[in-house]
Amino acid sequence: PAGDIGTPKRTREIIARYGFTFRKALGQNFLVDANVLRKIVDAAELGPSKGALEIGPGIGALTEQLAMAAGKVAAIELDRRLIPILEELFAPCANVEIVHGDALKLDLKQLIAERFAGLERVSVVANLPYYVTTPILMKLLEDRLPLEHIVVMVQKEVAERMTAPPGGKEYGSLSVAVRYFAEPEVVCTVPRTVFVPPPNVDSAVVRLTLRARPPVDVTDEAMFFRVVHAAFAQRRKTLANNLTALLGKERRQEAAALSASCGIDPGRRGETLSLEEFAALANKLAEHPA
Ligand code: SAM
Repeated sequence: PAGDIGTPKRTREIIARYGFTFRKALGQNFLVDANVLRKIVDAAELGPSKGALEIGPGIGALTEQLAMAAGKVAAIELDRRLIPILEELFAPCANVEIVHGDALKLDLKQLIAERFAGLERVSVVANLPYYVTTPILMKLLEDRLPLEHIVVMVQKEVAERMTAPPGGKEYGSLSVAVRYFAEPEVVCTVPRTVFVPPPNVDSAVVRLTLRARPPVDVTDEAMFFRVVHAAFAQRRKTLANNLTALLGKERRQEAAALSASCGIDPGRRGETLSLEEFAALANKLAEHPA
């Protein structure tokens, strides 16, 4: 490949040649900007000893750049119509493997072990389909995949939630989960005009660098995430009220007492709690299970 799939001219050519029609329901917005592609690939810190797992290659704009920067690329595409197109475009690339499937359903741990054997590190690099961004991210994090980075293009508003510090209206369970598993940073913001067809929202590239271990001590991880979800369940309610919904009405007093015993005012809102405070609360609750 010539390295130009991600240009307006070549993308138009490929789409015309194969008679491809976009499926909005699959989040098909193809990137046609060499600068943005370079920023994504640079952020992933690839090299000949590294692997890149791509989710949703489309017609391969990013795949092609990854093939030049990494030792090996595996790209998972759900849309069956794109498989023969990708197979043909990447036939000359010995280090690219196209996988037909749903990224949400595949066993990614096994896929990584099989397709990237012998490589030093693997990163996920993707321009994600926006209708499933959060489930895909949560799966990548919760499955504890052996990844170095997750570099993803997402809606700008999701990027803000992923990287939000405590206290603001963007801070929610996604922010807590991201920070628990990784160190997040925004690489760049991306206008809607660099996609074909243009989506209705602007985007941003986010890089997550996975942590070797969580930044807080949590005795029961399932309890930690239950408490986090409960705390944000009704954003206008106090922590005490949201915890009561988790524990049951008969434990209202206890809910307030437990948070007070962690030095957390039960009248606060969930969105003001730091990771450390959520951990303290969850550890306390793990001693007094619901
Ligand atoms: N990577 C290409 C680019 O940057 O131009 C295309 C990105 S497009 C935003 C998202 C791609 O993800 C589409 O090709 C779509 O068919 C694919 N897709 C949607 N849902 C998927 C899923 N659950 N698993 C794998 N791929 C999916």
